[in-house]
Amino acid sequence: MLDGCTPWPAEFAERYREQGYWRGETLGAVLRTAAKDFGPRTALVHGDRRISYAALDEWADRLAAGFADHGIRPDERVIVQLPNVPEFVAICFALFRLGAKPVFALAAHRHTEIRHLQELSGATAYIGPGTHRGFDYREMAKQIDFRLRFDLGADIAGIPRDFPEPDPSDVAFFLLSGGTTALPKLIPRTHDDYVYQTRTAASVCELSADDVYLATLPIEFNFAWGSPGVLGTLWNGGKVVIADSPSPDDCFPLIEREGVTVTALVPSLTQIWVEVAEWTEADLSTLRLLQVGGARMRPEFVRSIGPALGCRLQQVFGMAEGLLTFTRGEEDALRTQGTPISPADELRITDETGNDVPTGEIGELVTRGPYTLRGYYRVPEHNKKAFTADGFYRTGDLARLTGNGELVIEGRIKDMIIRGGDKISSGEVESHLAEHPAVAGVAVVGVPDEFLGERICAYVIPRETAPSLAELREFMHGRDVAEYKLPDLIKLIDAFPLTPLGKVDRKALR
Ligand code: AMP
Repeated sequence: MLDGCTPWPAEFAERYREQGYWRGETLGAVLRTAAKDFGPRTALVHGDRRISYAALDEWADRLAAGFADHGIRPDERVIVQLPNVPEFVAICFALFRLGAKPVFALAAHRHTEIRHLQELSGATAYIGPGTHRGFDYREMAKQIDFRLRFDLGADIAGIPRDFPEPDPSDVAFFLLSGGTTALPKLIPRTHDDYVYQTRTAASVCELSADDVYLATLPIEFNFAWGSPGVLGTLWNGGKVVIADSPSPDDCFPLIEREGVTVTALVPSLTQIWVEVAEWTEADLSTLRLLQVGGARMRPEFVRSIGPALGCRLQQVFGMAEGLLTFTRGEEDALRTQGTPISPADELRITDETGNDVPTGEIGELVTRGPYTLRGYYRVPEHNKKAFTADGFYRTGDLARLTGNGELVIEGRIKDMIIRGGDKISSGEVESHLAEHPAVAGVAVVGVPDEFLGERICAYVIPRETAPSLAELREFMHGRDVAEYKLPDLIKLIDAFPLTPLGKVDRKALR
């Protein structure tokens, strides 16, 4: 595995291979097979563009050659920051075929995040959209130390040729952690583990060539990319329809036009869909499965989803680090976040001392398995805390298991805020606000919000003159960070409540 990654121990790797989870196939090879099996069928739809499996496969080959001609080499990290466009898929497969490693930045990221990702990953190249929604990504990337920069409009294609097949047990790409530490960490995903995840998720969702998957969420999210998402659909010969935004205005007409059968949303967006479905004239009747995950939902709301949208609801709990749990039927979807997609997923619920709690009781969910990472990239000190000695990933989520082995998420112990579909680390926002001259002390927590689930609240101990919310937002904006991390509320306070151990008592602040 790429230097700086933590491989699975040999006995686990052997077992995962013997039991048929890891089949030694690269993502690029699986697309090749899909192109042979489904060549003329439509793989991707975006606006008026329709791209067949054969065309996508060939496009990836031409781009791979072009990137190689421009000097991109195997193992090089490449930051890919694109909106929802077919190019995202073709470019990623091109890089997979070369053995270069895409780092999936979010379109919302700005200079601060991209520079951090470049430094952490050592990325030498950047691929961005040029200008998109009024923001000049080209200008931003120019200020960062990349050897190569590419825009969507650039003609990168080369003459297709064969490249040495990458090692399937090596990293294919990097996802970003939702983040509990001040800055996001990189999650290495291997070909073996991701091919397995996407195939297994697709089989739980019973995806077939008749399915039409609507990519509503940002395509670089693990949920939309591979749970089963874009990849799980492509492996099965289905059609992937790419939406520009998750709003009903964009998505409902696409559902009708393309006969969408499956899609995935976060709870806050689901709420909008449910409301708009009541009066829309669009025909949503082809939709058979709606996956909802990423944050907790109120039980009354859960019950309204299926009837409102006329499809089956599947609750999804998951993380870019690996583990996915899906509900399987109508009934468990009303009560639980489902069961793991793989029989090889190991789940434990532990107390503060790391011991298992009795079944049914609440504790921290820790997990390991054939598609759950063993370590973040290049952060050995953090990895010592984030994993148990025997390689279980500490999720920071509070959960319980029912007698049937179903997972129910009860809360969080990590300092992460889930605001709509976005994950924000309290520590990251604090580290920015602490630099403001009027701020003597700051603690950032998520406070409940009917619509977004949570909003970002900054508790501030002011120096002489108290800052306003507008000032704090302007200040963070000026530091070139993604907009979704800006505080929604400010509360002035004289001193922070402390826990018995002398830490800021975030629970009390919330
Ligand atoms: P990410 O890696 O960005 O997908 O974030 C993963 C985290 O999102 C998990 O560790 C949970 O804290 C949270 N999460 C994901 N799905 C759910 C869910 N169905 N219910 C509650 N929290 C969730």
